Amino acid sequence: MLRIFNDELMNPNNFVVTIELVPGRESFGRSTDTLVGIAKDAFADGRVSAVSITDNPGGNPSLSPDVLGYEIFRHGLDVIVHFTCRDTNRVGMESRALQLARMGMKNILCLTGDYSGKGFGGRGTPVFDLDSVLLTRMMQGLSERLIASGDPEPFFTGCGVSPFKSLRSECMAQYKKLDRKIEEGAAFVITQLGYDINKFNELIRHHNEKNSHVPVMGSVYLLSPRAARAMNRGRVPGAYVSDPLYEKVVEEWHTPREGLQAAIERAARLGVVLKGFGYRGIHIGGVHKSFRTIARILDRMEEIEDDWPQYMTEFAAKEKQVYYCYDRVTSDEDNPGRKPGIKEQVLEHWPYVMLRSAHNLFFDKENALAPFHRKFARFLDTHDKTWILKRCMEDPMKGALLSCQSCGDCGIQHAAFLCPESQCPKHTRNGPCGGSRDGSCEVYPEKDCIWIRAFRRLEHAGRLDHFLEDKVPPRNWELNQTSSWINFHLDRDHQK
Ligand code: SF4
Repeated sequence: MLRIFNDELMNPNNFVVTIELVPGRESFGRSTDTLVGIAKDAFADGRVSAVSITDNPGGNPSLSPDVLGYEIFRHGLDVIVHFTCRDTNRVGMESRALQLARMGMKNILCLTGDYSGKGFGGRGTPVFDLDSVLLTRMMQGLSERLIASGDPEPFFTGCGVSPFKSLRSECMAQYKKLDRKIEEGAAFVITQLGYDINKFNELIRHHNEKNSHVPVMGSVYLLSPRAARAMNRGRVPGAYVSDPLYEKVVEEWHTPREGLQAAIERAARLGVVLKGFGYRGIHIGGVHKSFRTIARILDRMEEIEDDWPQYMTEFAAKEKQVYYCYDRVTSDEDNPGRKPGIKEQVLEHWPYVMLRSAHNLFFDKENALAPFHRKFARFLDTHDKTWILKRCMEDPMKGALLSCQSCGDCGIQHAAFLCPESQCPKHTRNGPCGGSRDGSCEVYPEKDCIWIRAFRRLEHAGRLDHFLEDKVPPRNWELNQTSSWINFHLDRDHQK
């Protein structure tokens, strides 16, 4: 009998188990057969509610989750399809969503996605036309359309979150973005992978204060030395394995049999602790060969379930340089009361003050000068002279200050006067992706994430309550290469 993931997760008496499958680059062959075999065995075992299938993980091409998912779905196991924003624009995404609805696969995990990897002829174009917040909003709108057209079942849309962040600014940004995704319609949450129990505790406490009606599933990963190394070195965006844990895993796997046994035990212990914390399920990853390993984790969880508090200490060492919202350990580097240095003043504070003052003067429709600006914009527009303003003032000024790409639908005011188009490689308009590490950008680690910079700018200006406060729509591509100043005053951009 098909177990319905949606029904099982929304029943508060259930503790739900899902497993993550990672397709390879082949459409046929042993690796694909193995994944289908794992799914079939999971169905026969009866303890797994659904399998989730990744969408070109690491940005590299792999068998589509839609195709593999459908094959598994037809064998009788419910499927969660990972849906990222990296490879297609909003038109392609909407079309894909309709296709999934037609196929009956309505459990969608909305993710911004890892940055583009390598495909035919080199690195692929990073599209990121929408971010995960906007994708969630799009799915919500599509659900309404499905219902209106007579489909009884809307999409069951979930989102990801990474609590494994070291800076206060990163933690706050992640949680604020999570709240936003839930406002936009995310009905379940799956965490990123990581072995820091205080961060799992932090997330569930934060979440229960605001959104306890939305179930959260914690990721439990079977740690091999290879996976532990990748997570420890930051090669899996948003994931976390500490140095001591990585060293321990390497030692355990000197004898592979013992290594596997230790990994199963660790996964089971983390699983029962998450259940004890009030997570509504676990999402098991890192098992690529056989369902037997997953069955062993679940068997062991059943054996040790009642003893969960004793396992908390195993994953509870707090990292010195990491910020924890509860029972915190704060590094000086991210101390809320700290004064910014000269470099930060020059790069962050003063540009913010200057751009905000200019914005208030020229781009506030309540301002006394606004009617004049509007008239001037209309005059230039009707006489086909907007290029004068754009080329002589807007492009040089915004180019120098913001590396402006002339998108024509300016969103800097939502990001503390930083540009989401030119300064964020994923063009996120509604907060950071999950990939930042110690405040650095996932794609360009030598740079700070713009949302962490925005947080600092607003905090220093005493305006932190404005951080991620706006629901920013997607960029309007019709306005590309036009004057965003004119578009604002003539109500053509998203601020109309
Ligand atoms: S959001 Fe668009 S118009 Fe504004 S600075 Fe960035 S590229 Fe230029």
